[in-house]
Amino acid sequence: MIAAESRSLERELNPWLAAEARFDEAAARLKLDDGMQKVLRSPTRELTVYLPVQLDDGRLEVFTGFRVQHSIARGPGKGGVRYAPDVTLDEVRALAAWMTWKCAVVNIPFGGAKGGVVCDPAVLSEGELERLTRRYTAEILEFLGPESDVPAPDINTNAQIMAWIMDTYSMHKRHTETAVVTGKPLDLGGSLGRQEATGRGCLIVTLEALRKLGMDIENTTVVVQGFGNVGGTAARLMARAGMRVIAVIEIDGAVYSPHGLDIDALMKHREETGSILGFPGAENLDRDEALFLDCHVLVPAAKENVITSLNAHKIRARIICEGANGPTTAVADQILADKRIFVIPDILANAGGVTVSYFEWVQNRQGFYWNEQLVNGRLEEIMVKSFRDVVGYADRHGVDNRIAAYMLALDRVAFALKLRGIYA
Ligand code: NAD
Repeated sequence: MIAAESRSLERELNPWLAAEARFDEAAARLKLDDGMQKVLRSPTRELTVYLPVQLDDGRLEVFTGFRVQHSIARGPGKGGVRYAPDVTLDEVRALAAWMTWKCAVVNIPFGGAKGGVVCDPAVLSEGELERLTRRYTAEILEFLGPESDVPAPDINTNAQIMAWIMDTYSMHKRHTETAVVTGKPLDLGGSLGRQEATGRGCLIVTLEALRKLGMDIENTTVVVQGFGNVGGTAARLMARAGMRVIAVIEIDGAVYSPHGLDIDALMKHREETGSILGFPGAENLDRDEALFLDCHVLVPAAKENVITSLNAHKIRARIICEGANGPTTAVADQILADKRIFVIPDILANAGGVTVSYFEWVQNRQGFYWNEQLVNGRLEEIMVKSFRDVVGYADRHGVDNRIAAYMLALDRVAFALKLRGIYA
């Protein structure tokens, strides 16, 4: 019995099975025929490459890399490259599909792709990392291109790594091609506003949710889990918009103040002390307990599988804005729905990042750069429209927001495929 329970929890926590469960439900509700479901499930192309790299001590090592294009029906493949010791082709394949749905939800003209290299960047020198990145780029060169497949940063990759990919690609093409990657340094064609885009997107959809539910910004209390790029930005912008951020949860604990935390001061405190804990005027709390604080908005922006069948019944928020990818399991979805919690699903809530990546690609191709106000204004336009599309769809079809987001995405990709027809 205990073994069976732990097996079912293991299945529940598998993010790819969770994405599959949502795909199945959305496809069934859309009454997509079997053939179309098969096409939408299958990746377009997958590549595994073996990368010989000379280490600093003179030894040769061979690393394995992957690039998967899930769908290019609506435009070039778009998706990050992760460097991690345990990355697998299965994981990259699932993440590539995830990108297809995310780009379709916000209706930007990209398909979905993802890449990975099996390595531990923590033990590689800068030179080793550069040689590895360049060789990986050279080996997947036929996949890449502004018109075909555009990588971006993901776990353990950053703007510098994007610069090396861009340079390697450009050297092969004999001209500089900035639009081949996004998330580049600003001085090499990166976009203003990209750094903040995901957290800003969370703010925009949360404001929409408050409006929809008839809630006042000033009386809104917020708990944010994860004080990194997404959570830190979301907390700062939500506080600036007039909400009261009463708790921030990090890996080593949480800080709480019913009067609201000064987020800029909390960032400074963490810079100075290395932790959010011990913030003057706030109470330290256990990180797991803080997730269940009474609040209006909970922003899980740290990692996957935070809200599960084991704890969903304890959540006391009115709105959950999923800054992270996959923070809620499919089983927990049902519990949250029964509690009438309004969930803004990840493929909508955190799509601000890929949206501004799209703007970066557009600016690179135009050779004309936008100011930050323009970037933020256009991001707002897209996030507001996407929120209304998803919530309107949910209302019309009597489904929750997550299934609505998947239905909308599947429908858009299936429609594009139908219009294009199957090339034989
Ligand atoms: P990050 O590394 O900058 O921040 C994550 C933070 O969460 C870190 O400060 C870390 O200490 C904290 N954390 C880790 N485990 C925790 C735990 N158990 N409890 C509380 N805090 C914990 O990463 P990020 O870029 O902000 O990404 C966060 C999530 O958002 C990930 O799921 C990522 O895939 C997703 N996401 C990020 C972007 C983006 O543009 N950065 C876009 C879409 C989705």
